[in-house]
Amino acid sequence: LFKAIGSFNSRRIIYRVVKGAPSFGALAFGVIDRGTNVLQARPTTICPLNCVFCSVDAGPMSEGRWAEFIASLEVIVDGVKYAGVHKGGGLEVLIDTVGDPLTYPQLIELVKMVKEIRTVRSVAIETHGALLSKQLVNKLWEAGLDRVNLSIDTLSEEKARKLYGAPWFSLRKVIEAAEYLVKETSIDLHVTPLWIPGVNDEDIREVVKWALRIGAGKKWPPVTIQKYIAHKYGRKVPGVKPMSWGKFWRSISELEKELGTKLSWNMGEWGMEYRKRIPTPLMKGDLVTAEIVGRGLFHGEYIGLIDYKGWRAFITLLNYKGGPTRVLARVIRDEDGIYIGKVFKYIKNDHI
Ligand code: SF4
Repeated sequence: LFKAIGSFNSRRIIYRVVKGAPSFGALAFGVIDRGTNVLQARPTTICPLNCVFCSVDAGPMSEGRWAEFIASLEVIVDGVKYAGVHKGGGLEVLIDTVGDPLTYPQLIELVKMVKEIRTVRSVAIETHGALLSKQLVNKLWEAGLDRVNLSIDTLSEEKARKLYGAPWFSLRKVIEAAEYLVKETSIDLHVTPLWIPGVNDEDIREVVKWALRIGAGKKWPPVTIQKYIAHKYGRKVPGVKPMSWGKFWRSISELEKELGTKLSWNMGEWGMEYRKRIPTPLMKGDLVTAEIVGRGLFHGEYIGLIDYKGWRAFITLLNYKGGPTRVLARVIRDEDGIYIGKVFKYIKNDHI
């Protein structure tokens, strides 16, 4: 189900997740159902940037990752179709990834194929825009893309290069493409700056003003400010202490008054609603047999295939040490259909 197709610095394997592989169970790739009408679609983990705040430790300079994944079109498309059968119509597919979706080689086909699914109402992409261009915007528009969620965290070219750990990054190009997208296409723009306290306080104001000035938010809200969080597996900005949620929301409400605009949204305003989840037979605490298929995203993790009462899914195993590739594993987390487990026993010659 995984085919090694290359490597980064000969240390990080790049896998193709081939047609026929399950669409669910992994955090890094496939489709994720979090119990609403929005499905997350993750076709790739690759990212060209090295953001100092990256919550998923992505990019060429990543130290925590030892594998990257590029899913075949079918893995994503079949997953969205399957979700539609159980969740009904009016779905939004958000291509959000733990990398940058614009690196996905078949992105245009993916948008087109997903948009043609009867139960899908809209398709959006979440990106930092490093690879965005007017030509790409045109192709995405033709393919049926409805919205781009663009993370721009400063309007300073120099600061952007430092924040994104990429001396080649051109903020001017990203801004030009974003403004073109708003003016010349029917794709909507939703701007999602990350607020890193003490690092881009003033920049956040500038980004909000820019987003409103150019006409972001034709159909969806124009701007959502994201809170910086120091994630366990992510990169931490040196010397920065994340704001508490209380302080963050108080600051957002002060900013709303200062800028005379709304910056926080409820699910209804965002077009989101709760929906029943895709039924899964596996739960935390269950014991399942799994076949190891390759490495997981972070050092030491492996991915196993579970075939449990006909339900095929991936599980990320935290303590597999090599040896037999069939194991008995205990599910230790099952949140949103993403399975994390620990090897309970190795299975030798089909005997537990
Ligand atoms: S924050 Fe996004 S764009 Fe930046 S390195 Fe991480 S995945 Fe890439």
